Amino acid sequence: MEERFDAIIVGGGLAGLGAAYTLASEGLEVLLLERGDYSGAKNVTGGRIYVNPVRDMYPDLWKKAPFERFIAHEEVTVMAKERSITVRYSGEELKKEPYQSYSILRAKFDRWFAKQAERKGAMIVTKSKVDDLIRENGRIAGVITGGEELKADVVIACDGVLSLTAEKAGLRSPGNPKDYAVGVKEVIELDPAVIEDRFALADGEGAARLFMGEVTKGMFGGGFLYTNKESISLGLVVSIKELMENKQGIEIPVMFEEFKNRPEIAALIKGGQTAEYSAHVIPEGGYKALTRLYGDGILVAGDAAGFAMNIGVTVRGMEYALASGYYAAKAVIKAKEKGDFSAKTLSIYEDMLKSSFVMRDFINFKEAPHVLENPRFFNYYPELVGNIMRDLYAVPAGPKEKLYPTVKRYLGFKQLWAMAGDMRKVMKI
Ligand SMILES: Cc1cc2nc3c(=O)[nH]c(=O)nc-3n(C[C@H](O)[C@H](O)[C@H](O)COP(=O)(O)OP(=O)(O)OC[C@H]3O[C@@H](n4cnc5c(N)ncnc54)[C@H](O)[C@@H]3O)c2cc1C
Repeated sequence: MEERFDAIIVGGGLAGLGAAYTLASEGLEVLLLERGDYSGAKNVTGGRIYVNPVRDMYPDLWKKAPFERFIAHEEVTVMAKERSITVRYSGEELKKEPYQSYSILRAKFDRWFAKQAERKGAMIVTKSKVDDLIRENGRIAGVITGGEELKADVVIACDGVLSLTAEKAGLRSPGNPKDYAVGVKEVIELDPAVIEDRFALADGEGAARLFMGEVTKGMFGGGFLYTNKESISLGLVVSIKELMENKQGIEIPVMFEEFKNRPEIAALIKGGQTAEYSAHVIPEGGYKALTRLYGDGILVAGDAAGFAMNIGVTVRGMEYALASGYYAAKAVIKAKEKGDFSAKTLSIYEDMLKSSFVMRDFINFKEAPHVLENPRFFNYYPELVGNIMRDLYAVPAGPKEKLYPTVKRYLGFKQLWAMAGDMRKVMKI
């Protein structure tokens, strides 16, 4: 008799593992296929996960989760060509348990999460790439991997940003460059005591830093730095559309080297050893670029559906992956109760997402990609603020100009009018 699963999950990142863990916890027969050597082997993230939105979905997970450091200090740096301005935020609330967010290394976390899902009863097969879908009577009925047919009542596509599974099911069309960014990242090993000294961290504390402006040569994107226990995650994210259009022809590895050589960064990573280099695409098109989420016998979750969002002060995707994996599993459980895996029944997945933080966030911030792609945020304002600060702090040989005229020189009617226009757009997010 042919083996048949309740659900087959394609991809063992956070969305896939979240779905597998939830389904197996309810006693369903679930098979997860991951093309990497292990879960976490091929997964790239910047490195900070916000736990609050998904805490109750996985109540047993957090106590022993192999996170790196809890984030107790936030910084945003606006970089102009020759100067930078930093805002540092440390709040007592960030230091109280349960912590809001942690730095994370996916090779460690996903591998551990896969073990937890297996303990619940999920079957996880690594080094298995799903090549195609099986269709029966107009619905998805399983997958083909390495020439072998595997059947299930439902397939959950969790195969990441350029999901071929969702594409083959007709739920996603090949992407438009404006909806994607590319990220590069290095994990740089450093002695924990050095990390704590350099970033002024108490025991277990971590720092998160974001950078914008000259770091991406004025293109939409930014830099990030997260402190881990024994390393630093340093990276750069740039809009693919703007990279393709950039007249300077500058490439991201060059941009990344220049970022690392900035004095603000070089001092932080000095003496460190690069242990890992990775690059990955990120969905950044927001609400308008989400894929269709369900079809007959299939659901789409995580990056595969487009659930990642950059709104300047936060970069989020991991908890959307965990939450959408969870709701996909809950929808499958409901469908199994009804014995019906049609698109109509599986549409409950979208309803669940709509009443959760996931779709509410995407709707609330639906204008963010459009508002933030304004090039003035990445070149004009960093230079403007840099110049104002330079003049405010300057003490010339002769008399010093009064403060108001110093600032006013940069903010004539034309500049203020343009700023008001930008502000009106920012007020949409
Ligand atoms: C540079 C960078 C910085 C980021 N920073 C942050 C951050 O700080 N915080 C945050 O929350 N989010 C961040 N994100 C986004 C976040 O990492 C993603 O949203 C999240 O990892 C998505 O998880 P996922 O499970 O949907 O996809 P993935 O983690 O990409 O998992 C997809 C899995 O599917 C597997 N797979 C693919 N195709 C197949 C196939 N055919 N068969 C079998 N397996 C397959 C892959 O090997 C992979 O394991 C960042 C992303 C990048 C690239």
